[in-house]
Amino acid sequence: MKVSFHTLGCKVNFAETSTMAREFPEADVDTIVVNTCSVTAAADKKCRNLIARLHRKNPEARIIVTGCYAQRDSEAVAALPGVSEVLLRDFSRFCPAYSVGDRTRSFLKVQDGCDYRCSYCTISSARGPSRNGSIAELVTQAQEIAAQGVKEIVLTGVNTGDFGRTTSEKFIDLLRALDGVEGIERYRISSIEPNLLTDEIIDFCAASRKFQPHFHIPLQSGCDRILGLMRRRYTTAKFADRIAKVREKMPDTFFGIDVIVGFPGETEDDFEQTYRFLSVLRPAQLHVFPYSVRPGTPAAEMAGKVSPKIAAVRAKKLATLSSELYEEFVSRFVDDDDRALWEGGRPRWHDFPI
Ligand code: SF4
Repeated sequence: MKVSFHTLGCKVNFAETSTMAREFPEADVDTIVVNTCSVTAAADKKCRNLIARLHRKNPEARIIVTGCYAQRDSEAVAALPGVSEVLLRDFSRFCPAYSVGDRTRSFLKVQDGCDYRCSYCTISSARGPSRNGSIAELVTQAQEIAAQGVKEIVLTGVNTGDFGRTTSEKFIDLLRALDGVEGIERYRISSIEPNLLTDEIIDFCAASRKFQPHFHIPLQSGCDRILGLMRRRYTTAKFADRIAKVREKMPDTFFGIDVIVGFPGETEDDFEQTYRFLSVLRPAQLHVFPYSVRPGTPAAEMAGKVSPKIAAVRAKKLATLSSELYEEFVSRFVDDDDRALWEGGRPRWHDFPI
């Protein structure tokens, strides 16, 4: 007799599923909870396939579905065979969440929702307006995480750098407060929009012993015309300036960069601009996503659709570049002595002197 939980998608979902699992009443047995993702059409399909598989294997179980796909298309999800209930989100409040026990690191949700309206994205409608926990509450959660022996926290959110909308607090003040939590040795900011990565945040991370020189920043395109069509809030010049500022303060920073290829209207020349931009910028890793049509978004109606075949060729080219960049980055540290957070096998963090 058991409840099983399944998570698809991002770190925010991992934090939320972990929180649900801790709070689930023991009396509810033979229940399966699926926390879904809807970032692309492929993510929707993955959710449907998982639900079908779970239903086949556990025909008697109650299947409860929540998350972005359930929120975006609740009727379709409710109609899937085996689904007993669809749980929708309450956009009027921030639901605190953190993960423990299932990963080496803990994901602490500090912010939810998004007020931006990027032309290709449904996440802002699936997660509602930007909102956050208070600094005091988040410090308490970080202390709870530390009490369980976790040494590293990844700050997660839908638009993490937009922290403070509902409490009128500042993201930089959250970082300062978390930096003082005893027992947590490392922090990472999971993903931050380039326009929100301020000099103040960069200077603070450079001075902190705990905040790691590790930034995940969505670029999406290295062509300003496409960035405009995407309704992103920066230019390539601004993006390059942010990277240069981080490198000036933290030369060994690991940059993971998101890129979308095959956005409507992206010509061969536009893609070449993106490729050249990234070749010059030389981040450590690229996360490449072929554009996926999301019904109801402005991009879905845009002219100049790029065929999936061409998008796949472009994605492959960037994946090859990413492998080269990664190799180049990690080879700089061969033979370096440094502290490590052990992620697998027997040794644990406290087996090593800090
Ligand atoms: S910043 Fe843009 S892409 Fe990211 S969640 Fe908000 S609307 Fe979507």
